[in-house]
Amino acid sequence: MKTNSVIVIGAGIGGITAAIHLAGQGLHVTVLEKNARPGGRCDRISREGHHFDTGPTLLVMPLLYESEFAALGVSMGELLDLQRVDPTYHLVFDDGSRLALTSDMSKLRDQLEAIEPGSFQGLLRYIDEGHRHYHLSIEKLVCPDFRKASDFFKLSNLPLLYQVKPLSNHYANMAHYFDDPRLKAAFTFQDVYMGLSPFEAPATFSMMPYTELAHGVWYPRGGMYRVVEALVSLAREAGVEFVFNAPVARIDLNGKCAHGVVVDGQRLEAQAVLANADLPYVYRNLLPQDGHARKLAHKRYSCSVISFFWGVDRPYRELGAHTLFLADDYRQNFASIIRDLDLPANPSLYVHAPARLDPSMAPAGQDTLIAIVPVGHLSENGGQDWSALCDRARGHVFRRLRALGIHDLEQHIKFEVNFSPLSWQKRYNLLKGSTHGLCHNLTQLGYFRPDNRHPRYHNLYFTGASTRPGTGMPTAMVSGRQAAQRVLDDLRA
Ligand SMILES: Cc1cc2nc3c(=O)[nH]c(=O)nc-3n(C[C@H](O)[C@H](O)[C@H](O)COP(=O)(O)OP(=O)(O)OC[C@H]3O[C@@H](n4cnc5c(N)ncnc54)[C@H](O)[C@@H]3O)c2cc1C
Repeated sequence: MKTNSVIVIGAGIGGITAAIHLAGQGLHVTVLEKNARPGGRCDRISREGHHFDTGPTLLVMPLLYESEFAALGVSMGELLDLQRVDPTYHLVFDDGSRLALTSDMSKLRDQLEAIEPGSFQGLLRYIDEGHRHYHLSIEKLVCPDFRKASDFFKLSNLPLLYQVKPLSNHYANMAHYFDDPRLKAAFTFQDVYMGLSPFEAPATFSMMPYTELAHGVWYPRGGMYRVVEALVSLAREAGVEFVFNAPVARIDLNGKCAHGVVVDGQRLEAQAVLANADLPYVYRNLLPQDGHARKLAHKRYSCSVISFFWGVDRPYRELGAHTLFLADDYRQNFASIIRDLDLPANPSLYVHAPARLDPSMAPAGQDTLIAIVPVGHLSENGGQDWSALCDRARGHVFRRLRALGIHDLEQHIKFEVNFSPLSWQKRYNLLKGSTHGLCHNLTQLGYFRPDNRHPRYHNLYFTGASTRPGTGMPTAMVSGRQAAQRVLDDLRA
């Protein structure tokens, strides 16, 4: 075994970030990835000149990216060619009314006042709350490296109980700011990014609409996969070795120690193992079935999505970069997804047209479209008919687009790639096909998420969406940095 060697399982954002930090400190780092390419959920499909980001489509929380790239010794602005997306989203409601969320406050005021007189004042108060929630949450919940209970349970954190409203429900909290249900929906739908319904999410998550309006939603030229490419080139420069098509079958253990991993029947040894594959999957599939694994099975998992990737032979300029169709039966929508693990009767859904932001994402005179329909995760009894649910979801996308005057999309689709929760499970080993892993309800938030180090095996570490701090690309970079620091501190101890 090489001294100071670390094996990273998985080349997702968290794994690559951790690898760069570790290699930068002189460690021998090997990243083993089951797929043929890096990125994990932040993946890319390219076909006939159409480029699809299959996971993330929004670069949000740019300040967090900036500080994480700075921690890697580089400037985000120099690495990525970023443009601000404004309006961020075009929202379309069931009654045909629309709202373009923009950081141009006078345009936003006019639109809000037309929906509900007096609501702009409500928005300003909501943004003020979001500002407080964002900065306190980043400082006290996202960025701290919680290694022991006393790092979280301390007197100075007590005021958080009223400062970031963790015990208030996000949707109910909206009544302080708006009456119109369309506005309540417009500033809470972002909870889906945490795999949560606004009817169960803590009001803390007003931080998301705040950061989108205040710091912006951004797009790197070349698409979100540019972030992966940038990280991989930093990793290679630092000396990280990547092995693709290398599915780890199990983590090799001896007593309280991880010795390495088994890949294709071969044992690979290392002084530390850092798992970036989603944490609940690692516990269930790569480790012995003990009490820890059983406890995790009972945790709450985020919802999933059905996605369609369409190469289209004509452009649809009536579509902005990010269009969201929000259903009137907002509450029922989430109940259907989260409680019934189903597809709602009238689902809210999202359509992304990346060529609006970067023409090179589609061949000239054509279009690249992505439609995402949130749906329940895989049920334990396997009773869901995914082929029928995908057909229904596809029909809903076509129906919704007709509201924008798009009637002929079906005739212009050259090819389709379709992901269901089964695809998310198979491609990235996400338990239950949950696109965001463990969800971020109160009991699984911040310190309460699983630790970045295994409680029993002292040299087995975790990074990624289901460990601390949580889901999202910049958060995965925080997670990678913190996990790497833990490895370094333990190896040096
Ligand atoms: C549809 C969708 C939309 C999203 N939208 C956004 C967005 O707009 N903005 C945003 O910031 N975030 C978004 N996210 C969340 C973001 O993509 C994730 O939180 C982040 O990419 C997770 O990174 P990770 O470090 O957990 O690694 P993962 O992406 O989980 O990668 C883990 C890697 O481990 C590999 N692996 C698994 N098992 C093994 C094994 N046995 N052996 C070897 N390798 C293995 C997997 O193949 C994978 O490459 C979205 C996610 C999805 C799915």
